[in-house]
Amino acid sequence: MTTELILTLNAGSSSIKFALYEAHEPMRVGLRGQIESIGGAASLQLNAIGAPKQVRPVDVTDHAAALSEILKVVGSASGGARVIAVGHRITHGGPDFSGPQVLDSASLDRLRRFIPWAPLHQPYNLEAVDGAARVFPGAIQVGCFDTGYHRGHPWVSDAYALPRRYYDAGLRRYGFHGLSYQSVVAQLTDIDPNLANGRIVIAHLGNGASMCAVKGGRSITSTMGFTALDGLAMGTRCGVIDPGVLLYLLQEEGLTADALSRMLYRESGLLGLSGLSSDMRELEASQSGPAREAIDYFVHRIRVELGALTATLGGLDCLAFCGGIGENSAEVRSQVCRDLDWLGIALDDAANRESQMRIGLGRTPVFVIRTDEEGVIAHAAMSLLTR
Ligand code: ADP
Repeated sequence: MTTELILTLNAGSSSIKFALYEAHEPMRVGLRGQIESIGGAASLQLNAIGAPKQVRPVDVTDHAAALSEILKVVGSASGGARVIAVGHRITHGGPDFSGPQVLDSASLDRLRRFIPWAPLHQPYNLEAVDGAARVFPGAIQVGCFDTGYHRGHPWVSDAYALPRRYYDAGLRRYGFHGLSYQSVVAQLTDIDPNLANGRIVIAHLGNGASMCAVKGGRSITSTMGFTALDGLAMGTRCGVIDPGVLLYLLQEEGLTADALSRMLYRESGLLGLSGLSSDMRELEASQSGPAREAIDYFVHRIRVELGALTATLGGLDCLAFCGGIGENSAEVRSQVCRDLDWLGIALDDAANRESQMRIGLGRTPVFVIRTDEEGVIAHAAMSLLTR
């Protein structure tokens, strides 16, 4: 390894992903890994280039313990090399933060204001910045915002039809998964620049799930809004809901705001509908009726949004799937794409079963793209270092 490294940290609700890159062009990743199921049966996965993948249980009960375990692993993997930048996925940048930037105490104070806007992610993102700054005091800390990619979208995609003062106070449709969408668009550009410049719908389907309409390489609209609750049903989040339901639960059922928040973020979506699991692999393996219905609902919402995003784009030149479900579930992709001849979409069943990169047979190409948020973060950190 070189003597200078860039570390990326991507802290989610129950996992922290990380990667270690050589800090020179062409940037190469030396180590990737993650701690999953923090607070439960946590495990550390390590993928060092040229070595077999390792998975081992780790005794971490919270994010702080997981972060300190990761920073220990990174410390020993880096040998004598110096970490000169740590790039962080920051979920919510609010109205002010769009492009990547070096974080200082003033920007961190501003970003803390958005913790209630992304309660499953933002606190852990900011804890990771503090933890990394303590362990690598000589490194710059770079924030890359999941909302950033969408900040240029049109006003109609930015607003809610509430009294105007709320828009001015920051209640807007931000959209998330921007680092993933950037990664997919960059990969599509390498594959076919003309296509990547056209009208694309990207479905990022993981524990968190959203879709984005991209035109000329830019986000036009996305299914998530002010928070990462809106749009598609997710592992444990409800997705789109009639606001009247929320009023009813508060006013008639007497739910407290905390109980409602817990239900919408942690007890709904695939888990709530199936009563079984938030994990698509378990639902696909189950014979239970509610598990089937949960998958059907998940797919139905994707198809509804595909229609809406296609209308917003004025047509569709390409559909791309990414995220843990989008990259791996042939069943979900096949259900989403059924009877879409009117959109020029037909799947090559064999290619779909093998999760190949190109899975379409019709006039509208369909791709499975392995998203690389870490790569986007590392390149952003590198460009700030060399600026
Ligand atoms: P996160 O939003 O936490 O980053 P991921 O992108 O890792 O989530 O996606 C996790 C989801 O991907 C889980 O629902 C998991 O079951 C699903 N998944 C992973 N591999 C497969 C597979 N082979 N088939 C179906 N679903 C899969």
